[in-house]
Amino acid sequence: MNGYELRQKDDGSIEIVEIVPSVIATFADRAHAERYFDFLTGPKDPVPPRPTALPAPVETAPAARTAKATQTFSDPTGEEWEKAFTYLMAGEDMKAVAARMSVDMYKLRGKYAAWRRRQNERAAAEAPTGNPAALETSDCRMCGRTFRDTAESDGLCARCFHG
Ligand SMILES: [Zn+2]
Repeated sequence: MNGYELRQKDDGSIEIVEIVPSVIATFADRAHAERYFDFLTGPKDPVPPRPTALPAPVETAPAARTAKATQTFSDPTGEEWEKAFTYLMAGEDMKAVAARMSVDMYKLRGKYAAWRRRQNERAAAEAPTGNPAALETSDCRMCGRTFRDTAESDGLCARCFHG
């Protein structure tokens, strides 16, 4: 999992820095790997990997002292969330959208999942009820592809039906 760190710049602005784990070497046996690991981390210091979830403390300039480092996320309105969801629907990267909105990515993901669920439920509720088979999927009797079955499709997917 990636970690994040806050970094304050000289002009007082705060950057969120993503710490991406990257493999720097691969070893066939553990003893060998540990020797290099010890070399990199310091010989007799078997501390567990440092937690990356917590923002690193930043040197705060006197003027910025009142700003709390923990309150880095904004609180979008419902409309702003909806807009973000449409970006995600369009295939935008979850992380990029979260960063742009200054919200926690996991919060965005949770909200997005709930929103998608509601959308699906609404779509199902609004679907025509006269022909329940319209919501069913079947396997094409010609090619076996899964397709959305209708009364007119005669058990054929669109490709076989028209082909
Ligand atoms: Zn077919």
